[in-house]
Amino acid sequence: MKRLTIRPSTVGSYLLCGGRPGQKDMPGYQIYPNEVLLFGSGMHWLIEQRLEGHDPSPVEVELQLHLIYVKDIPETYDMSKVVFLNKVTNKAQRKMMAKEIVEAVDLWETQVRDTLPDGRMLIEKKMTAEVCAHDDYAVDLTGTPDVVFPDDGVIIDWKSAGKMWDPKKMQGQIQPIAYPWLVSQALDIDITEFIFWVYDRKGKWWAPFTRQGPTEGQVAAFRDMARVVAINLHEGTWTWNPSGQGYTTRGWHCSAKYCDAWSLCVGKFLIADGKDGAEAPTQRERMNR
Ligand code: SF4
Repeated sequence: MKRLTIRPSTVGSYLLCGGRPGQKDMPGYQIYPNEVLLFGSGMHWLIEQRLEGHDPSPVEVELQLHLIYVKDIPETYDMSKVVFLNKVTNKAQRKMMAKEIVEAVDLWETQVRDTLPDGRMLIEKKMTAEVCAHDDYAVDLTGTPDVVFPDDGVIIDWKSAGKMWDPKKMQGQIQPIAYPWLVSQALDIDITEFIFWVYDRKGKWWAPFTRQGPTEGQVAAFRDMARVVAINLHEGTWTWNPSGQGYTTRGWHCSAKYCDAWSLCVGKFLIADGKDGAEAPTQRERMNR
């Protein structure tokens, strides 16, 4: 029996389009750290520091941004083309993002911190649970929830967004199914609530989006989906979904800007909108989007 491992984020990416995680190991696939991800990573880091009782200075936040960014550069990347490193070493740029992160987390102190449960916290603890084991494969789900309050049965996930979420966005999220199930299994406890605390970068405010559960039906469906996704990725039996709405128009995810497989992918040609010849963006464009 072969043992495979999958992360909730990989399942999510696969649901957008199988070609995104499916082409990850192919030549031409480029992971470009981008402004949105860098901001999110820096914000997560600072919240984690504050929860652990530290208070890094803005300069330390700048340094952390630099470290996160450099760490994300794949070993295979052609360093002669790393024009975007200028962005990282550009002090003004780093300083601006660090300032915005400190501002977001200062708002978190006044709008979010007091609402957190009082009990024990597990911060960024990696966990694994077996999704299934039969036939030829055993599949493990592995993930790192932002914060778990085990005594209160609550998981919290920090998000940053260009604008505040529409509450309907919660309905289709898989994290509120995947993580409660994963944590319940890994720690042998009951998790009853999953909260996304979302920071709106434009409006500069935080809001909670809560889901109870998950139900048994949701867990059963998620586990089966995770099993199929893991096996398909392993076997190479995935397929494309460049469409956002039932093969009428191209989805936001199928673009030079948002898909790291864009340069090598043929699935993008399936939508006849004349946009499939777009060049992959430069790092400068990604950082400025
Ligand atoms: S370019 Fe489009 S079709 Fe190809 S992997 Fe990315 S999202 Fe899928």
